[in-house]
Amino acid sequence: MIQIENYIDGKLVAPLSGKYLDNINPATEEVYSQVPASQKEDVLNAIAAAKKAFPAWSKTSVEQRIEYFYKIAAMIRDKHEELALAESRDNGKPVKLAMRVDIPRAWQNLEFYAKAMSQFHAESYVSNSSINYTTYNPLGVVTCISPWNLPLYLFTWKIAPALITGNTVVAKPSEVTPMTAYLFSQIVKEAGLPDGVLNILHGLGPDMGDTLVGHEDIKAVSFTGSTATGKYIANKAAESFKKVSLEMGGKNPNIVFDDCDYEKALKTTIHSSFANQGQICLCGSRIYVQKSIYDKFKNDLAEAANKLKIGDPTDSKTAQGAVVSKSHYEKILSYIEIAKKEGGTILSGGEAVEGKGYFIKPTLIENLDINCQSNQDEIFGPVATITPFETESDVIAMANGTRYGLSATVWTGDVNKAHRVASEIDAGIVWVNCWLNRDLRTPFGGVKNSGLGREGGKDALHFFTEVKNTCIQVENL
Ligand code: NAD
Repeated sequence: MIQIENYIDGKLVAPLSGKYLDNINPATEEVYSQVPASQKEDVLNAIAAAKKAFPAWSKTSVEQRIEYFYKIAAMIRDKHEELALAESRDNGKPVKLAMRVDIPRAWQNLEFYAKAMSQFHAESYVSNSSINYTTYNPLGVVTCISPWNLPLYLFTWKIAPALITGNTVVAKPSEVTPMTAYLFSQIVKEAGLPDGVLNILHGLGPDMGDTLVGHEDIKAVSFTGSTATGKYIANKAAESFKKVSLEMGGKNPNIVFDDCDYEKALKTTIHSSFANQGQICLCGSRIYVQKSIYDKFKNDLAEAANKLKIGDPTDSKTAQGAVVSKSHYEKILSYIEIAKKEGGTILSGGEAVEGKGYFIKPTLIENLDINCQSNQDEIFGPVATITPFETESDVIAMANGTRYGLSATVWTGDVNKAHRVASEIDAGIVWVNCWLNRDLRTPFGGVKNSGLGREGGKDALHFFTEVKNTCIQVENL
């Protein structure tokens, strides 16, 4: 049994309560590690350590911080396979997906922000009577809270811009997938990152959240997770006017026009609906297909979904692993039942795989009203709905008809139509003839109940810094 510990002030430490939670491998249902059930007192210790480390860390040169980042990134590369296996065992995702996406993205996040920081600089404005210079200064101690679907990927996506700009961090990965963050704490220790600069706490959100978010020494909160938790955090943070960045749920439309590259749209739609068992906030869970190709597209999609190999995440042929936990498995299955009651017709899947592990067959459902619960709520599993449409304006109204607005995908061969539709869709990110094509320099985030603020590129560097203008009066410049 692996015992995970918190990482506070450069030391791996047990939670003060001595209590641990079971960590279960969702593919086998076996408990294989113990996770600290941290409480307020553990959070206070982490905040104190981060506060103590801030003055020195914020004064280290940018070059020195960049050097740490490259060192840590190289160590992640060295442990590529170990980390991918750990991610799969915690989350249920295929090891090959973690090898190809999750772990490379973790080192890329560090390398990207190392490079970005070298281009992020003060500005100056000179006139004949004054010199103004605008600097971007670290905030102090910041909190980074991340979810379970892309554990190390999103953990590093947050802590990298926070640390590179000179802040010290108290980070809270999901209690459901703590393993790679725990391994990461060992990596940063070995890399020699100064004690207290990064502190990692494990445990249940509600046990720690009020202190992580509300404590007076926390200057900003960067959160990725569900809309319900994001709402709670935004309210709590507002009491002390903290900066908040929220990346939350999605119910993203995937719009297929009849003039698209059919084969490409079909192949990508299988991926965008079911990758990571549909547990990516950007998954296209509402598929809209133009009427003239609807029947063919839905049949081809259902056939392709039925062919996806489900099972042992360590098998290199597996396309679909287990969903993350028993409670999430039950939630997804309950939504399939809701969809059936709402009149939905199951075109593929629609049930769990018999036997051990939380496996659900890739499920495609049609005949649902666009306003019904299964078309409105984020299910966050291998479940997509499919609906025909006739005109551009019809599908724009359908696409915008939920409380979410994270991303959208548009498939068409007509660039003018692509531009028209993209501009009308309420979403922070629109992909045309592709999906999850990410350039880390671009702004990432959602509108409506999907998000507040943007991550990525300069946006994250701005979020984690306070801008200050200094004006010096000069004579006869
Ligand atoms: P969640 O909200 O349950 O948990 C996210 C994190 O918040 C976890 O670390 C959890 O422990 C913590 N938390 C829970 N309650 C808290 C509280 N009261 N105070 C402080 N922290 C608390 O979400 P989840 O189930 O882990 O993740 C799935 C959700 O994340 C989905 O809705 C998905 O769409 C969303 N997500 C969004 C993005 C994005 O970029 N928009 C990316 C990935 C996942």
